[in-house]
Amino acid sequence: MSETSFTLHGTDGAARTGVIRTPRGEIRTPAFMPVGTAATVKAMLPESVRETGADVLLGNTYHLMLRPGAERVARLGGLHRFMNWDRPILTDSGGFQVMSLAGLRKLTEEGVTFRSHVDGSKHMLSPERSMEIQRLLGSDIVMAFDECPALPAERERVASSMRLSMRWAQRSRDAFGDRPGHMLFGIQQGGLDRELREESAEALRGIGFDGYAVGGLAVGEGQAAMFDCLDFAPGMLPEDKPRYLMGVGKPDDVVGAVKRGIDMMDCVLPTRSGRTGQAFTRRGVVNIKNARHADDPRPLDEHCACPACTGYSRAYLHHVYRSHEMISGMLLSWHNLQYFQDIMEGMRGAIAAGRFGEWEAAFHAGRAEGDIPPL
Ligand SMILES: [Zn+2]
Repeated sequence: MSETSFTLHGTDGAARTGVIRTPRGEIRTPAFMPVGTAATVKAMLPESVRETGADVLLGNTYHLMLRPGAERVARLGGLHRFMNWDRPILTDSGGFQVMSLAGLRKLTEEGVTFRSHVDGSKHMLSPERSMEIQRLLGSDIVMAFDECPALPAERERVASSMRLSMRWAQRSRDAFGDRPGHMLFGIQQGGLDRELREESAEALRGIGFDGYAVGGLAVGEGQAAMFDCLDFAPGMLPEDKPRYLMGVGKPDDVVGAVKRGIDMMDCVLPTRSGRTGQAFTRRGVVNIKNARHADDPRPLDEHCACPACTGYSRAYLHHVYRSHEMISGMLLSWHNLQYFQDIMEGMRGAIAAGRFGEWEAAFHAGRAEGDIPPL
């Protein structure tokens, strides 16, 4: 008996809603995963993250292997215990971040050697080492090790990179082995090219995974190109397995991806924006640093149930941002995470009820309205 499963409860067009079951708890889909890069969702306590409605967090293999180190986390009881989050954790493979953050990289068939951006020390990542690190961390959903070129890129470069990633996907599968209660996801590559996406999907289906990611998007191609690709790429992946779009995105990216058949997403945007005074609301983006909020006693978003909106005024949020008080990042991060989870909950309900189109129209209408007029 498998200890993990994915059940679809409803579809509306290409949009799907369901649940992933793991020994550490259920993940309701479509799901948005807050990012806990360095074993913390910045400025949030784990119990606060849970209160927003998050079922699963993302941890970054690249960051954790460098600091504090995967072996150390394992000795301390694993990532769940280390960061005090007992629900599911998905870890990325390190492949994307090693290409974007590390210095002096050398890419071979075997893997990538690189120098740490933290202290310059030398490290190696390969499919086998990535699987080992993710096992040491205790990840519930493990990502295959892949390589991804920034877009735009020449077709030949995208094709050879994708084929290397497919050979690494097989090695990831072999190294992962049989681990009941844990899932391994393969990652489709191929840039914006339909043929390459199909070749990649065929290779992954042949290997067989517990879930499939659409990789290599949100790397600079723009929303229109990403949506064009999502019009065909998810449909190439097995219907009975979860589909994960990595590193996405803004609220309208998230909604557009779900509309096109994506079940899971992650992004640093809610927390990163929260720390820079930017709030996502039903009526679009609010920059709390703007002087118009200085005397405004109204909440950031009157329809939001988060602590920032129920306990504080725009004037207060403006003041603590301008005063560089830590509570500013805490409150706005919470609010933004709450907003993203509210979107996901709204979409899950709408898909189940067969009313996704209506929900989507209301979502866009609210944003088009813009922020409440100044007092
Ligand atoms: Zn709020």
